[in-house]
Amino acid sequence: MASQQRLTLAHYRTPLTNDWCPGCGDFGILASIQMALAELQIPPHKAAIFSGIGCSGKLPHFVNAYGIHTVHGRPLPFAIGAKLANPSLTVIAVSGDGDGLGIGAGHFVNAGRRNVDLTYIIHNNEVYGLTKGQAAPTMRLGMKTKALAKPNINDAVNPVALAIVSGYTFVARGYAYDTRHLKELIKQAIQHKGTALVEVLQPCPTYNDVHTKEWYGGEDRIDPATGKPIPRIYKLEETGYDGVVKTGSEEEVIEKKARAIAKAYEWGDRIPIGVFYVNPFVPSYEERIAKLAPSYLQAPPALQPIRTRSLKPAADITPFLEELLIR
Ligand code: SF4
Repeated sequence: MASQQRLTLAHYRTPLTNDWCPGCGDFGILASIQMALAELQIPPHKAAIFSGIGCSGKLPHFVNAYGIHTVHGRPLPFAIGAKLANPSLTVIAVSGDGDGLGIGAGHFVNAGRRNVDLTYIIHNNEVYGLTKGQAAPTMRLGMKTKALAKPNINDAVNPVALAIVSGYTFVARGYAYDTRHLKELIKQAIQHKGTALVEVLQPCPTYNDVHTKEWYGGEDRIDPATGKPIPRIYKLEETGYDGVVKTGSEEEVIEKKARAIAKAYEWGDRIPIGVFYVNPFVPSYEERIAKLAPSYLQAPPALQPIRTRSLKPAADITPFLEELLIR
């Protein structure tokens, strides 16, 4: 590719056939990621996308970048490892709500403590779509979809609130059918220096017949004055809400977190999307490592030679292996 060539959406598409159900919110998330990469002019060979298991797990197949379809609940450890090995990569991890907040919940929480510079996108459709619509950890207590024999008897995890208390330094929520807005959130998340969470409300037309595109759009409640639906989704930025920490003081951080968590629980009549919380004052994990090992950012593992001029392994791991010997 010529170095001057302007990258367009076409550069981020793959020839693979997409097998998501018609109307699935995954299409909007995929398009938003591709648009964000194109608008930021991130070359495909400088981006890596990691996924776990579930319908969302197929997403890296359809983005022309490094794509790694990992194991259930584990995209974050792979993504963190790749970013720490090669900090020049743009790293994105994607999970479904079941993948990221069920089996992967421990990784979700501990990623917040580290603040590695990556973007984590959670597809939230409240169901395990790939395995026929069982209740996922984001489904509310008492909710009954067509795929459930009885109403759900577990309470729900709130991804935005959990991210904030876990230490994520950029926390946002988007909507899969508003790709222009979601693309902007993903761009901001990629540009943020630290771990960024973007929860995406992603209707599953096949198994979630309660929180549908029509429900989010308010088509069940018509404004008598205009004759139009009253949408449930609204944008935080249009209300004057500002979740960005400006001074880094402990009082301000606590106050901004508390406001963001309260907003995260707004649900039902009005559902906010947008940026809930940003704290640019927390050092990234890469910066913390560089403090301990000053050469790290100039010579991260991916840039270190793996063999000598005489083709011998550059690193002698014998002492490490000897430590593991049972004598
Ligand atoms: Fe999308 Fe649901 Fe179909 Fe999975 S089962 S591809 S989440 S519509």
